[in-house]
Amino acid sequence: MRPRVVRIAKPPRNTGRLTGQRPDAPAPTACRRSATLSRHEPPIAPVELTVLGAGPAYTDRPGATGAAYLVRLGRTAILLDLGQGSFPRLAAELEPSTLDGVFVSHLHSDHFVDLVPLRHYLRFEFTPVRRVRVLGPAGLADRIDALNGTPGFTLASLDCEGLGGEPVRVGDLVVQPTRVTHTDESYGFRVEGPDGGPGLVYSGDCGRAADLAAMIQPGDALLAEVSFGPGPVPDGALHLDGPAVGDLAAATGAGRVLLTHLQMGFDEAATIESVRRRFDGPVTLVEPGDRAEI
Ligand SMILES: [Zn+2]
Ligand SMILES: [Zn+2]
Repeated sequence: MRPRVVRIAKPPRNTGRLTGQRPDAPAPTACRRSATLSRHEPPIAPVELTVLGAGPAYTDRPGATGAAYLVRLGRTAILLDLGQGSFPRLAAELEPSTLDGVFVSHLHSDHFVDLVPLRHYLRFEFTPVRRVRVLGPAGLADRIDALNGTPGFTLASLDCEGLGGEPVRVGDLVVQPTRVTHTDESYGFRVEGPDGGPGLVYSGDCGRAADLAAMIQPGDALLAEVSFGPGPVPDGALHLDGPAVGDLAAATGAGRVLLTHLQMGFDEAATIESVRRRFDGPVTLVEPGDRAEI
């Protein structure tokens, strides 16, 4: 996996820890400088995104795994989705039982099926069993139970909660879920630090770009699915294409666009170009290992 920093959006700061930080280690920047801060200064550490998986439901792209995005601020770590094959990449970034929460956008397997290895890991690697909070659509636990044919399978180590329209505070992060057009219950998420500032807006899978517009604040990073590349999206396919994402980013004043979930067979350069024709900020197609400060 080739780590690369997608873009540093703000002036360089003394972060210096974009790789290999263990979750139980103190946040070096904040600790080093805390003695000089008043209590009212905002946290120094930026919200950090690490792409664990950026694939769609299937693809022949080497190394592609299902949707999984790790978002960290200081000692707080959450996941947005955990699709197929991404659990090992999660485990390479942090000890998975230290996750503060997993937010599941919708009940398509490319967005949640690696909750199964997470469940097993928590159940069998620790005595007593460790638990992680999982927030997602209604029926998530039943869906995983059915996959394994075992009632109660999921709740053995995952604490499942439903999502509504209210923001959810998890450690130092605030996650705002918003319903989007895709399945009966699909969400996009906006994640920000406790004191506001630029956020990360994740589209999940989304069949109507306008659903995301109210979530995006000027300067936000927009992590958007672009399933149908340069487009067009076929009738009835509830996904986005590059022109839709570009128009959305331009209309909302997004600071940059991170493209993901590109389906098999679409040209990467043409997809990026289709966004750039409509949005003049930075545009990147992300892949596993990419990191960005928000
Ligand atoms: Zn998907
Ligand atoms: Zn989907």
